[in-house]
Amino acid sequence: MAHVISDICSREGDCVEVCPVDCIVPGPKDDKKWGDLFFIDPDTCIDCGACVSVCPPEAIFPEEDIPDEYKGDIERNAAFFDEDAGNPGYWDFDLDEERNTNRES
Ligand code: SF4
Ligand code: SF4
Repeated sequence: MAHVISDICSREGDCVEVCPVDCIVPGPKDDKKWGDLFFIDPDTCIDCGACVSVCPPEAIFPEEDIPDEYKGDIERNAAFFDEDAGNPGYWDFDLDEERNTNRES
């Protein structure tokens, strides 16, 4: 099991700062397919839950508790890290550039 970022994500980036295993990665913001969300690598997430409480819009769920309307995001988070399929996976991003620029603090 892992934690999952749902479609609620508004790219605040706080989750990246607290993840102890650095398994949260933004979709490149200019990427039409992936640029709307941040994603959690399910193979690396240790289910610590630290990201859940810092997420302003409460977009992160343990996989087993994700609401039905966001169940598709389980596969989407995993697919993001499937580099063999040509998907972004881990990349050398600048968090301040990728996070929501409307953020006030
Ligand atoms: S803290 Fe929440 S809104 Fe911000 S990037 Fe992470 S999941 Fe998305
Ligand atoms: S549950 Fe913990 S390990 Fe998993 S993404 Fe959130 S902060 Fe990272």
